[in-house]
Amino acid sequence: MFSKILIANRGEIACRVMRTARRMGVRTVAVYSDADARSLHVAEADEAVRIGAAPVGESYLRGDRIIQAALDTGAEAIHPGYGFLSENPSFVDQVTAAGLVFIGPSAPAIRAMGLKDAAKRLMEKAGVPVVPGYHGDGQALVLLAGKAREIGYPVLIKARAGGGGKGMRRVDHADDFAEALAGAKREAKAAFGDDAVLIEKYVEKPRHIEVQVFGDNHGGAVHLFERDCSAQRRHQKVIEEAPAPGMTEAMRAAMTEAAVTAAKAIGYSGAGTIEFIVDASDGLRPDRFWFMEMNTRLQVEHPVTEMVTGIDLVEWQLRIAAGEPLPRRQDEIRLSGHAFEARLYAEDASRGFLPATGTLHHLAFPPRAPEGAAIRIETGVRQGDAISPYYDPMIAKLVVHGKDRPAALAALSSALAQTEVAGSTVNTAFLAALATDPDFAAGDVDTGLIGRKQEALTALPAPDDAVISIAALAAAGADASPPSADPWSGIASYAHFHPVGRRVRMHRDGGAVIARVLPQGGGRYAVHLDNDARLELRTGTDGLVEGRPVARWPGHVTVFDGPVGHTFVVPDPLARADEATAGGDSLRAPMPGLVKIVRAAAGDRVEKGQALLVLEAMKMEHTISAPHDGTVASIVAEGAQVTDGTVLVTFAEENASG
Ligand code: ADP
Ligand code: ADP
Ligand code: MG
Repeated sequence: MFSKILIANRGEIACRVMRTARRMGVRTVAVYSDADARSLHVAEADEAVRIGAAPVGESYLRGDRIIQAALDTGAEAIHPGYGFLSENPSFVDQVTAAGLVFIGPSAPAIRAMGLKDAAKRLMEKAGVPVVPGYHGDGQALVLLAGKAREIGYPVLIKARAGGGGKGMRRVDHADDFAEALAGAKREAKAAFGDDAVLIEKYVEKPRHIEVQVFGDNHGGAVHLFERDCSAQRRHQKVIEEAPAPGMTEAMRAAMTEAAVTAAKAIGYSGAGTIEFIVDASDGLRPDRFWFMEMNTRLQVEHPVTEMVTGIDLVEWQLRIAAGEPLPRRQDEIRLSGHAFEARLYAEDASRGFLPATGTLHHLAFPPRAPEGAAIRIETGVRQGDAISPYYDPMIAKLVVHGKDRPAALAALSSALAQTEVAGSTVNTAFLAALATDPDFAAGDVDTGLIGRKQEALTALPAPDDAVISIAALAAAGADASPPSADPWSGIASYAHFHPVGRRVRMHRDGGAVIARVLPQGGGRYAVHLDNDARLELRTGTDGLVEGRPVARWPGHVTVFDGPVGHTFVVPDPLARADEATAGGDSLRAPMPGLVKIVRAAAGDRVEKGQALLVLEAMKMEHTISAPHDGTVASIVAEGAQVTDGTVLVTFAEENASG
């Protein structure tokens, strides 16, 4: 076994790899960018080396600096995690040339699977069923449009170098093909530096079922059963599980056999995932699954497989890279119970899953799983850390295990209800809504489920009077004060007796909330709301008000109601309202990014929902649409680099006659 390894990644996956290394007595070296100097993965490593500035091109993608760091620290091997350099065969060549071991497959194996078109041709030859479509080299619009017509709509345009759902467009009608192709190519070029695409038949009632495989350097290959990742938004996984609901023995046998065949066809070594698309319109049928792609790395969702097999996949990766044979034979690998993983992201689900940034002023994970279940939190952040625009906005993965699917799902819901994040917009409530959706709970999931129910799943419940009253109490500063003789003593800047209590003004989604807080003594307060509601509340010494967790952070109060965090803006009366002038009728950038396309001009009359511009951020394109009918007064220039909150569009004043 190695005595020291370098982890060429950041965030939760770097921490995850280090945990196993530590358990195995292997020392760890972290690498970090300037943005990550004080991050968790640096703190957890035995040593850490700075590799450059925050942008990934200057740090985590700098293979040369990473290899130098490994040589300088005496690490013998490099674990790439996922993303970044994990599927880059030239990096593997450089690692090997430097006399180091790459913890992953060989460069030729990655090359064989790196481009989706070439991988499909290879799999076809090996006798693995592939999705019908066009995966040739020709890229002319007429050729591709002709192929799409031959294949038959709906079709899916995919970047051959794609990953993470980027550079992908579903097209339903020939009329939309050219524009969708241009969009897919733009996104692919920006994300992967390669704009070649393939075209696939869009599979009906698609389910994404993938098989975990492992190969060693002695010709061995096994599978570790399947994962179902059909709960997706914009082709990105949201909740994954193992085993796949409704899986039959015949289907499992066919899929795992095809997966092992695929791995053997390229002499695969290490951890890999064969992704299949399944047509579930007639249940799970062994003649209705097709190879989609192979991910030649550890997958984000590998923990669900660990939960149901009891195998540490990172340990296997290290053993195999060190030359050991596969630790178990196929018949020694068993499935037990059911596991889910939910990806907790800083994003605004109700605004098309826009990635968010911010400082995690308050962060609390579920302290324990329900009786009989197990929970595991995979994270790379702590309270106080920032979610920056530079990297993936994932905060944590909540992984649960139960004796069967209902037990595991109950554990997931319970975990989400005990997750508290304040300081950034998060998708906790959306994940919880999905976990309790009747179709999802019944295991009737396909990749379109979230899209069909998006509005309901992402709708945020309005806070009830109790939540508003608790927020008002916290805004008044009363929540943290221990019960005392002078009920106002704990409240900063409020020293006078006030017969009508303290007036609190807060904002929520543009609307003002006014409340009056009256101390009753003994940690009890009466709160009067402007809707005439009147509640009596009791504060505890545990930071909870009426048993609900509350987070106070600069300028805000967040009250947690199960998985929903209700955030109120508490204006600082001393701060100047300089925002007000630009706060009128304008559209602001929801996140930092590049204005890729501008579709309207000053003076244009636009309709509600009309696309005004395309913002590229986090390597994805986000369409910014008109919030209402109106006339554009000004619009940002194409090519502009904007920050969070930059005014993109202003609308002309509408007069009553016009
Ligand atoms: P898939 O590639 O099938 O979507 P995953 O959902 O496991 O598989 O991963 C999403 C994609 O985004 C992958 O290409 C992965 O390498 C990349 N990715 C995910 N998280 C990160 C991250 N934190 N940093 C860099 N890349 C990431
Ligand atoms: P990526 O590398 O971005 O992960 P994939 O080829 O794995 O790209 O596809 C991502 C997702 O897109 C799949 O999980 C699935 O939901 C959907 N998808 C891919 N191919 C098809 C298809 N032919 N028909 C229907 N959905 C598909
Ligand atoms: Mg994929």
